[in-house]
Amino acid sequence: MNSIYDLNLEDLENYLVSLGLKPFRAKQIMKWLYEKRVSTFEEMSDISKDLQKKLNEDFIIDSISIKDVQVSKDGTEKYLFEMADGSLVESVMMVFEYGYSACLSSQVGCNMGCTFCASGLLKKQRNLSAGEIVLQALMIQKRLDEIDKRLGNIVVMGTGEPFDNYDNVMKAMSIINSPYGMEIGARHISISTCGVIPGIERFAKENLQYNLAISLHASNDELRSSLMPVNKAYPLEELMKALKEYSATNNRRLTFEYLLLSGVNDSAQNAKEIKELLKGMNAYINLIPYNEVKEKDYKTSSEENALRFYDLLKKNGVSVTLRQKKGTDIDAACGQLRANNLK
Ligand code: SAH
Repeated sequence: MNSIYDLNLEDLENYLVSLGLKPFRAKQIMKWLYEKRVSTFEEMSDISKDLQKKLNEDFIIDSISIKDVQVSKDGTEKYLFEMADGSLVESVMMVFEYGYSACLSSQVGCNMGCTFCASGLLKKQRNLSAGEIVLQALMIQKRLDEIDKRLGNIVVMGTGEPFDNYDNVMKAMSIINSPYGMEIGARHISISTCGVIPGIERFAKENLQYNLAISLHASNDELRSSLMPVNKAYPLEELMKALKEYSATNNRRLTFEYLLLSGVNDSAQNAKEIKELLKGMNAYINLIPYNEVKEKDYKTSSEENALRFYDLLKKNGVSVTLRQKKGTDIDAACGQLRANNLK
């Protein structure tokens, strides 16, 4: 049976009309789901008993259960959610000066095969549905309800490649963004891709205000292909061309993510190549300390090297930020919690 959380406002309106009912009821239902955050149709007190019954017959008002939570000293919380079919999915809640942010997964496992990433230790089992993506955010909001706080930012940077599950991710974001959904502003939503060009091209055409982030992690094709197999299908030149087209039509600033891997991608030569790659682009690069993963040999760059790399880029006129570490005392790296739990 379909989850009620798979439906956006338009779907709900169409459903109601198909029953011969007035479409405005859709807004009432959405309000119960996302503003009052009830967990049964019976609680929707301004909906007729007949419609409550029909909704119960046609949809599940499901939930996902929390199988494990880890709480970091810095406030970061990492959840292992269990889906209805038993699939395990990770999400993270982070606390920043600007508010609460949720990092959501888009797939169960991942097929992109990035050599440094723990998510890829488990191959993709399936895509998450729109409802399962929405529910991760909603569950985190329900936790924040207990302390009277509001989730303000969404990043699709958990397990999975969002552009390998394009339709469900976009639908989930439209529900999260909708004034009748979770009402999180488009500019507070970021989608991160490893560089799947057809997804970037599709995304460019939609002209949405979500932020687009690209996992770059290398400054040349040889290195990038060795770390990220996706680069063999979509090499840097083509990737940069697609991104420039996106920037030109959307007029939005791009974010490049760059993991700092000691002795792998943090040399002066790498900094020089980054400068060339990003030349003339409306973009900045976010340097990210690598969360070391037991199963992988990579080490994060020393603080000294990270700062040196940052300075080099800065001196070369590249817009650059150095990300603060979050949740290092818990298994905060992508896929770590799930990988450990399955053992
Ligand atoms: N597939 C998408 C989104 C999921 S990965 C993408 O590649 O962008 C989200 C980000 O986490 C990516 O930039 C990824 O490279 C990074 N990441 C993976 N493993 C990490 C680790 N151990 N420490 C820090 N960041 C990591």
